[in-house]
Amino acid sequence: MAYEAVIGLECHIQLKTRTKMFCACPVEFGADVNSNVCPVCLGLPGALPRLNDRAVDYALRLGLALGCQIRAESVFARKNYFYPDMPKNYQITQYDRPLCEGGELPVVMDGVERRFELTRIHCEEDAGKSFHPERVGERRISRVEFNRAGTPLLELVTEPVLHTPAECSAFLTGLRRLVRALGISDADMEKGQLRCDANVSLRPVGATALGTKAEIKNLNSIKGVEKGVTAEIARQSRALDAGEKILQATLLYDADHDKLAIMRTKEHAHDYRYFPDPDLPVLCVSDERVSLVRSTLPELPWVLEERFIEQYGLPAYDASVLSDPPELAAYYEACAKGAEAKLASNWLMTEVLRILKEREWPLERWIQQVPAQRMRGFLAKVAARELPGPLAKQAIEWLADEAGTIDDLLARHDVRVQSSAEDLLPLVRQVIDENPVPVSQYLSGRTATFGFLVGQVMKKSGGQAVPQTVQELLKKELADRTQ
Ligand SMILES: [Zn+2]
Repeated sequence: MAYEAVIGLECHIQLKTRTKMFCACPVEFGADVNSNVCPVCLGLPGALPRLNDRAVDYALRLGLALGCQIRAESVFARKNYFYPDMPKNYQITQYDRPLCEGGELPVVMDGVERRFELTRIHCEEDAGKSFHPERVGERRISRVEFNRAGTPLLELVTEPVLHTPAECSAFLTGLRRLVRALGISDADMEKGQLRCDANVSLRPVGATALGTKAEIKNLNSIKGVEKGVTAEIARQSRALDAGEKILQATLLYDADHDKLAIMRTKEHAHDYRYFPDPDLPVLCVSDERVSLVRSTLPELPWVLEERFIEQYGLPAYDASVLSDPPELAAYYEACAKGAEAKLASNWLMTEVLRILKEREWPLERWIQQVPAQRMRGFLAKVAARELPGPLAKQAIEWLADEAGTIDDLLARHDVRVQSSAEDLLPLVRQVIDENPVPVSQYLSGRTATFGFLVGQVMKKSGGQAVPQTVQELLKKELADRTQ
């Protein structure tokens, strides 16, 4: 039977605040084990939480960017359960009165804009981390690490409006781009700064009632989400085809082995016994605060993308690549000034991004080494046809490694670009004289040999001729010979 998948996502976004959600401990990746802890985030008796205002502002930024309703009075609740890496035995989160509700994320897929509706966004704290089992000598031990305990998180929940694995990855890509543009999270999935659970159910195509859903926990890469959801859709449709009932279950997906494992079924589901946290006051957000946060929002990525298409005449694909992260977008705009916009886009998207990948450089290192002004000098030369393709590809590596303007670099590497007819005409004539057979083939209408002749001239110039000039000269000389 043909089925339609119905998917809802729960995304956890780690906020880029200096300190934790309810205490003054620093939020740091890679700090010494259990060094960023205090009585509050260790859950010691008598310690009282105090809300991080910056985290609330960040939540408001995201909520406003997505067009959510902001609740003037929202409430923190305790979600009670036992887990070794959660010392209070409850997590502080928001339950029936979350900070943000509704809203939607616009995402362009295959050139068509889709808007995915959201249920809510709320603030909460992260748990610690368990490592187990590990072997120390003869003993097998487990360790718990509390540096992450109390880290500010936003949980964003979508309506069940996604239907394919590709939509899930497009949604996450769009969300990652947005939170980076808002400056509220680095959303590095490898570091767990953006994680996602997916609720998946199937129903026969055309049916409206929802099937029984299963939840895949802690998907931690965009590829992983796509593969995990694909595997779950396949698992459920096999079961339904075999006449089995889908059990409401929580699953773990192992991306390395493309395997799903059932953690627990509904009979063992938790009852979290939510209740309002008596240690925290109601979170009141005034209209003034909302307006203030709204006034600090940057140009949103989908607006910026649209502007790149209109202002610079870029194809949609270029605009989507160059609009994320915001540093790349700003660098592109600075480079496109004065240079041909599409030319700048081509060089950034192909050569610069390739170099970064090959050298494992962060973008900021490139920008430091090749500020926009330097890059513009290079692009102007390419635009003026004063740097033939292969030489330009070489020269951009020199830009990455050495100091100086593009002219300095060409002089240092003893490159004399041959762009004038005066330089090139003797070579063109020589090639025509030395290749009578291809020349006569060309003259008798077999124009395919033209490329060969251009290549011969390029070779004679040692790759330093400008191909456009060679082509023009060659055409003219050959035309003269026919008369
Ligand atoms: Zn602390």
